[in-house]
Amino acid sequence: MIDTLFLDLDDTILDFHKAEAVAIAKTFRSLDIEPSEENISLYSRINDSQWKRLEKGELTREQVLSTRFSLLFEALGIERSVAMARGLYETLLGQGHFFIDGAETLLRDLCGKYRIYIASNGTARIQKGRIESSGIAKYVDRIFISSEIGVNKPSKEFFDYCFDAVGGVDRERTLMVGDSLSSDILGGKNAGIKTCLYNPHKRENTTQIIPDYEIHNLSELPSLLSKI
Ligand SMILES: [Mg+2]
Repeated sequence: MIDTLFLDLDDTILDFHKAEAVAIAKTFRSLDIEPSEENISLYSRINDSQWKRLEKGELTREQVLSTRFSLLFEALGIERSVAMARGLYETLLGQGHFFIDGAETLLRDLCGKYRIYIASNGTARIQKGRIESSGIAKYVDRIFISSEIGVNKPSKEFFDYCFDAVGGVDRERTLMVGDSLSSDILGGKNAGIKTCLYNPHKRENTTQIIPDYEIHNLSELPSLLSKI
């Protein structure tokens, strides 16, 4: 029986890719860069690769926030201020939110039945703006953001910090739900809790990281929880 949930935020509860596309298009326009689909997806690919490097411990958060722009400008062969791009983008990103399909209904359904914690690898300044504008705080018991803790998922220390902070967590009765194999599922495994991959695009898993459970739609979670 599960009584405690750790939920990832980006692309599990909130649609980060949509928020990112909107914020980056506005940033591009301000910097006189064509906000084309091509340029936006180039940024997105660079950004993803830099966060993967953070998960592996190769880069710090501060480095990621800057290198994603310096690499982008390099790839586009243009010169722009990295500091200005960063400032603009981070401010814009913190201003908006879009829910993943079914996320709000899910939180409303689970609220009061489970202890619910958000476990995010984001940057506190940005995540707090998005959390506030989305109104999800009322559904969850506590929000953990890695930049405030000082360690990131998938490290065991991230979860140890959360468990210590809330107390009384029975790892056997705890489930981590998230869309990332490398941070959420590996993190849950490192922490000794059960894991559920949210895989809406049914992406093939080519890694050695195997989740205990997998869902393709958030609406599947309540019935899964009643069975395990
Ligand atoms: Mg995620």
